[in-house]
Amino acid sequence: MPHSGGFADASATFDDARFVILGVPFDRTTSFRPGARFGPDSIRQHSWNFESYDLETGVDLSEVAIHDLGNVEEFGFARDMVTSVREEVRPIYAAGKIPIVLGGDHACSPPCVEAYPDGSSIGVLYLDAHMDFRASYLGDDRSHACSSRRIVEKVGAKNVVVLGVRSVSREEIEDNRSIGMPYITAHEVAEDGIEASVKKALSMLKTERVYVSLDIDAIDPAYAGGTGTPEPFGLTPRDVKHAIGAVAPRLAGLDIMEVSPHYDTGNTSLLAARLAREAIVRCVASHRVP
Ligand code: MN
Ligand code: MN
Repeated sequence: MPHSGGFADASATFDDARFVILGVPFDRTTSFRPGARFGPDSIRQHSWNFESYDLETGVDLSEVAIHDLGNVEEFGFARDMVTSVREEVRPIYAAGKIPIVLGGDHACSPPCVEAYPDGSSIGVLYLDAHMDFRASYLGDDRSHACSSRRIVEKVGAKNVVVLGVRSVSREEIEDNRSIGMPYITAHEVAEDGIEASVKKALSMLKTERVYVSLDIDAIDPAYAGGTGTPEPFGLTPRDVKHAIGAVAPRLAGLDIMEVSPHYDTGNTSLLAARLAREAIVRCVASHRVP
């Protein structure tokens, strides 16, 4: 397989691209074990494992215009990373392209949503083992433990659905009682099935376009142990594949966060790369003229 520093099949120029990859190697707000700063390049490296042709959709990624912008260099305070990421992502939306942002810890997601053009409404499907709904954590309101809260402040509680959650503090649940961000737990997904759960989640998001924020720890650590805060009883890779396929016709952007490659032998990076590719092929397939 050919190999370069970038994401596989990302050979288009920025101007020609329909999808734009951006890496954010930032993990200064990880709260258990660090290492997500190594996620973007590891995901890129593992993306070279795959055939460009997709069996299910017939889409060939070598024929899809994808550009890899490389990594955001900012590695100071979270608030500085937030400013940089917003500035990097804003022109991607402005040019009518779909950003695919590889993290980095989950603190890198809110600026990707905040960069969406002002005045336009956007829904967010937030896949995570955790609720990430703290007002502030360890003195930092831009911690990865606060990301859904920051996103809710931008787009409104009714425009966010958390899917796959199974870990939350009492404080977060109590705050959410008045704020009202909808969520579907991993236990409900196990009970009701992924099809019904995703259908329910997407019916709650009334906006035309939907942004997907995937904290890789939404997936069970048996499949995705290469992450900073692994949590048992998670979703399966196929559950997340289904969710991505269901959102694809409305996809505004995607991020995949919290891949921390040194805690496994590459499985988690491989899965993240495959899910990024899944989003692209499903999006292309759903916009094909029949
Ligand atoms: Mn998270
Ligand atoms: Mn999480």
